[in-house]
Amino acid sequence: TDAGLVTEKLPVDPVAVPPETDLMSKFDALIAERKALIDTGVTDPFAIVMERVKSPTEAVIAGRDTILLGTYNYMGMTFDEDVIKAGKDALDQFGSGTNGSRMLNGTFRDHMDVEEALRDFYGVSGAIVFSTGYMANLGMISTLVGKGEYVILDADSHASIYDGCQQGNAEIVRFRHNSVEDLDKRLGRLPKEPGKLVVLEGVYSMLGDIAPLREMVAVAKKHNAMVLSDEAHSMGFYGPNGRGVYEDQGCDVDFIVGTFSKSVGTVGGFCVSNHPKFEAIRLACRPYIFTASLPPSVVATAAMSICKLMTATKKREQLWDNARKLHGGLKSLGFRLGTEKPDSAIIAIILEDQEQAVTMWQALLDGGLYVNMARPPATPAGTYLLRCSLCAEHTPAQIDTVLGMFESAGKAVGVIG
Ligand code: PMP
Repeated sequence: TDAGLVTEKLPVDPVAVPPETDLMSKFDALIAERKALIDTGVTDPFAIVMERVKSPTEAVIAGRDTILLGTYNYMGMTFDEDVIKAGKDALDQFGSGTNGSRMLNGTFRDHMDVEEALRDFYGVSGAIVFSTGYMANLGMISTLVGKGEYVILDADSHASIYDGCQQGNAEIVRFRHNSVEDLDKRLGRLPKEPGKLVVLEGVYSMLGDIAPLREMVAVAKKHNAMVLSDEAHSMGFYGPNGRGVYEDQGCDVDFIVGTFSKSVGTVGGFCVSNHPKFEAIRLACRPYIFTASLPPSVVATAAMSICKLMTATKKREQLWDNARKLHGGLKSLGFRLGTEKPDSAIIAIILEDQEQAVTMWQALLDGGLYVNMARPPATPAGTYLLRCSLCAEHTPAQIDTVLGMFESAGKAVGVIG
């Protein structure tokens, strides 16, 4: 070959780096822990592949038909005919991607349409779409509060909220999970003048518990703090219009963050607000500006899905029926659950340790059921959880089957008697 065309390759055997200067050495403990787990013969819970997805509630995993009870497809919109058609049409008309930032060439017709759909859904004057929910939190929190100001967050906040705080320059104050009293105490200790943002979540995704938003918002307002609520896990089925826990509890928050990756059934994130200066976020927010916008097919599916969620009363009822049936069934089987009542579409089973959690998870998977396994640091208080998240499309017969699977796996592993 022409020597000039031979491409440089990374060396197959890189020169060994002494461990003390190898930046990858910091992962040794993590690698060893993962190896020890896999050596016990279990399937890696963090390396599942969906070989086929048949519906919002069924997939093929490792060649086996499996019921999905661990996705955030709460409203089952991923296979909605109108949603799929909207995506295909946008793909045909606008191509596969935008090749640019929303600020420059990356705003297409469907980005405008999805922001309009969000304004209608939430009944607000402002909506800004981000590339993911993670980036919506990262962008909103780091842009809203700056040097000399304060961000106050629940200790059990999602990683994207923590990262948003880290990315900004504000002072970070944490309060005890869902404690109105601790929030009040900590706000009371801060100087009066600087701006403050209290960040809350409607539904906390690990245990599926909800926040006492009404009391918390009242406390925040008493201390002149603004409030941002992440309603990622409540959109579509909480509150009279499916806007979230804040709507259900009738409270006034300044900013709502949400995602398209759960009830909406695609990918993307957003913030909505009635603040008259809200649009200025687009001019200052780095995670909005310095990344490519969502593909037209994605925003087109999101816009259609959000419009349909506005009237999805039947699906909403079905989802709550499913949550009640599963929660009641698991409780009467003797499992320890994350919440006393079915507070949301997430039902978490608390297990003793990693070994018990993984063995139980594997037994369920082998029987044809997929749930999420969650472990520290994602979980509160060092807990190991099997998290079930329901879909409006689960049938009562599927829930019965699922309960049967939990009963036999729970008895085989010794979690229940
Ligand atoms: N907020 C919360 C509470 C979440 O649980 C998640 C994702 N699980 C996100 C934000 C991020 O959403 P996305 O998947 O769109 O990045």
